Amino acid sequence: MAPSAGGNRRFGSAREHLAEEPCVSGPGATAVFLDRDGTLNVKPPEGDYVRSAEAFKWLPGAAQGAAALSHAGFALFVVSNQRGVARGLVDEATLAAIEVSIQAGLDPLSARVEAFRYCRHDLGDGCDCRKPAPGMILNLAHEHRLNLKRSWMIGDARSDVAAGSAAGCRTALVGEPGQSFDDAIVPDVVTTSLLLASEQIVSRLGTDTVR
Ligand SMILES: [Mg+2]
Ligand SMILES: [Zn+2]
Repeated sequence: MAPSAGGNRRFGSAREHLAEEPCVSGPGATAVFLDRDGTLNVKPPEGDYVRSAEAFKWLPGAAQGAAALSHAGFALFVVSNQRGVARGLVDEATLAAIEVSIQAGLDPLSARVEAFRYCRHDLGDGCDCRKPAPGMILNLAHEHRLNLKRSWMIGDARSDVAAGSAAGCRTALVGEPGQSFDDAIVPDVVTTSLLLASEQIVSRLGTDTVR
């Protein structure tokens, strides 16, 4: 995965390659990239992780919000930082079991997640995928031929907004009201739940022009 030193001169580092190649702005599917913890499900305490499928608890209306976005024509992807993997606190079987839980919650609503992506690295690993880096989004865009300018990243953290913005997407911040957002990167939508965000995003369709 890591580029070899002095490797492909044309593209330089893997990071540059990602930044230049996959940003499909013409025809292409539109997507919603969903954060997981704190967006779909109740966020575990700081420094802890969802360690089992049983510990995955949907937030109210989150499945309905995701389904509404799917029904509006967005392909759904989950992009999640799971540093607990690097710390040995979460394993692959648990990630997979949680994916099954998520899909089981969407099935009755006739929606599905196209793919799940995780950053499994630790803070100091210097990877391209841990949000606020946009690597997971850019890779998905490349693989699925997505139109990032018409796509959205939705999450409950500034790092979600920053990752979406860096990938060229529109962004929605969901979570507790009254969050201050004094960063230079301002989300397009700020609201308290995925359901409310989905309503705002869907209501923009058809009237919205691409930036
Ligand atoms: Mg989150
Ligand atoms: Zn990573």
